[in-house]
Amino acid sequence: MTSDLLVCGAGPAGRALAHRALSHGLSVAVIEPQPQRRWTATYAAWADELPGWLASEAVAATVNRPVAWGTRRAVMDRPYVVFDIGRLRDSLDLTGAHIVADRVAEIVPPTRWGTRGLDLPSVRLASGNVMAAGRVIDARGVGRSPARAEQTAFGVIVERDRWREDMLFMDWRADNGAETGAPPSFLYAVPLDDERVLLEETCLVGRPALDPRDLHDRLRHRLRSRGIELTGDEAIERVRFPVEGGLRKATAFGAAGALMHPATGYSVATALATADAVVRGDSLWPAPARAVHALRAAGLRALLALPPQDLPAFFDAFFALPVPAQRAYLSGREDLPGTAAAMTSLFAALPWRTRRVMAAAVVRPRKRARP
Ligand SMILES: Cc1cc2nc3c(=O)[nH]c(=O)nc-3n(C[C@H](O)[C@H](O)[C@H](O)COP(=O)(O)OP(=O)(O)OC[C@H]3O[C@@H](n4cnc5c(N)ncnc54)[C@H](O)[C@@H]3O)c2cc1C
Repeated sequence: MTSDLLVCGAGPAGRALAHRALSHGLSVAVIEPQPQRRWTATYAAWADELPGWLASEAVAATVNRPVAWGTRRAVMDRPYVVFDIGRLRDSLDLTGAHIVADRVAEIVPPTRWGTRGLDLPSVRLASGNVMAAGRVIDARGVGRSPARAEQTAFGVIVERDRWREDMLFMDWRADNGAETGAPPSFLYAVPLDDERVLLEETCLVGRPALDPRDLHDRLRHRLRSRGIELTGDEAIERVRFPVEGGLRKATAFGAAGALMHPATGYSVATALATADAVVRGDSLWPAPARAVHALRAAGLRALLALPPQDLPAFFDAFFALPVPAQRAYLSGREDLPGTAAAMTSLFAALPWRTRRVMAAAVVRPRKRARP
């Protein structure tokens, strides 16, 4: 039996796509090595990024006005949501899909005039089986490589009453014990539900990124300086994933389809919000989306080039931007004027020294990492 759509990989992107295709009445096959695997990463997003169809129970907690610190406190008037990861996964229901527990070894494009005789795209599985479908979409994520900038983090989960401070989108204050001039990291603090908070020391991007063991030490140091002594019994979260890579083409989706924001590492909300467009067969890469992606990639280069001591002031300037400008840079994919205006305002607000470093990083693009 040939499906209308075959999705390779059932992470957040693949599962969202398969789920939406089923709700549009398509026949769907999903190839995933461990289809029953529960997700463990803590995913979050801006509330205004989520599509209307998403089940409300997928959201575990909302922070109405998250706080960000560079060297000074800024309140972001933009609700931020943390997913209930189990419910998010389950709400992307795959009932009716043909789910195959296998690994995709090769995606074979259609060969209308070739010798293989197939008029449809197909996949060759590790088991040796071949499956064809009306469309094949690669949602297998992006593998690690030294050439790709990564985000790393180390987090602990503590009872909510142990955390008496703000919920923090980013806190770059220098109380984590890092040596002067060392690559910087920030504290991320979000509720997981009414009872638990995730406190995570995060290296936003690095090539290479900070080792999570160093982030562990910094987190312990930072929390101690804020009156929280870790016992070692806390549940932990380790984070490491590439923020670049993927292919901007119609047959790839999610991180594999370059939907990850290169300067923040976020992609889950984008995948949820664009799944319907992919089901309809719309292009996710019209010219404005390509241009916005290029500007954000320049933002990543600037972040990687900034001297560590300049980052807090950089984020002071970013969080002083009006919320619509922050949103244009952080979210959405096609607001080219908004993204360009946000980056220009940010640039204008920075000290000359920082501007020079950023300008050099932006105009001297590095050779692109292979997808
Ligand atoms: C701990 C952690 C926290 C994060 N927090 C956030 C956050 O708050 N917000 C956010 O937006 N992003 C966050 N991210 C980034 C996150 O990884 C990506 O945004 C998201 O997982 C990408 O989803 P995806 O479905 O595109 O790819 P993946 O999640 O990588 O899923 C790929 C899927 O493909 C499957 N697969 C791989 N190879 C094959 C193969 N050969 N054949 C078949 N299937 C295959 C894998 O098993 C997997 O299920 C976080 C990442 C981590 C690790």
